[in-house]
Amino acid sequence: MESRAVAAYLGLALGDALGATVEFMTPREIAAHYQVHDTIRGGGWLRLKPGQVTDDTTMALALGGAILQTGRVDARAAARAFDGWMRARPVDIGNTVRRGLLHFRTTGIPETASSEHDAGNGAAMRVLPVALATLGQSETQVRAACRAQAHVTHNNALSDAATECLALMVQDALHGADKAQLLQRHVVPLIRQHPEFEFRSAPRSNPSGYVVETLQAVFQAFFATQNIRECLIDVVNRGGDADTTGAIAGMLAGALYGQDALPKAWLNTLDSGISQACEAQARALLLEIGGGSKA
Ligand code: MN
Ligand code: MN
Repeated sequence: MESRAVAAYLGLALGDALGATVEFMTPREIAAHYQVHDTIRGGGWLRLKPGQVTDDTTMALALGGAILQTGRVDARAAARAFDGWMRARPVDIGNTVRRGLLHFRTTGIPETASSEHDAGNGAAMRVLPVALATLGQSETQVRAACRAQAHVTHNNALSDAATECLALMVQDALHGADKAQLLQRHVVPLIRQHPEFEFRSAPRSNPSGYVVETLQAVFQAFFATQNIRECLIDVVNRGGDADTTGAIAGMLAGALYGQDALPKAWLNTLDSGISQACEAQARALLLEIGGGSKA
């Protein structure tokens, strides 16, 4: 379980680093540049160094740090950590995240007003530390913890549903669930409740930052491939919000396939400070907070 947790965190970072190169490109542009983009090489619109990650990974690490400090998932601690993260001038930041954090700065309230329009993927992409820290808790508690961190910036029913679904999928994969079980236990119920998330017939190119499109692309790639490398290459070559589809797909595939399945060449290129932080946090969240020592 510990190795799967580490793989989920490293998978998140690998997908982010791989996808960032082609974020906002179309599949045609990606094919023209790279044929198939399958190397962690940096660049992209953010002009990253090879192996550098973006907000998807660094917000998760900020959240995980707050959970470790507080000993639990706490909205105010999360908001403070995100605010500190924003002050440190991250390489990228979503509009909804910025708005939510400015709201926290001015009001001190770690929750934005609910909005029909704030269905971006920013809360879903950073949920992994919550999944690890709440392992062994009831589903109701897990869902509440997901929403507490999410609502700092995104207070929206579709964002909540996606964020909670991903956390429960990660936890189930850590417990050894296979892909068919993850589909039946989590994705099918999500689609039953919110038919927007039906992914089989959805467009396959240019998934946007709308959490529905993001998850559709992630599910298409995750359920159609047999290993993490194939899964991440599939999802990032669709372009669009590729660092975030990559990060989320990498988290799920890491949790499912485990640490030995992570591509060595990618791991060697990943920023070493980031990979060390991901690995250390995964273990600490699982063992110190998440009851992983009992599991
Ligand atoms: Mn990003
Ligand atoms: Mn993104």
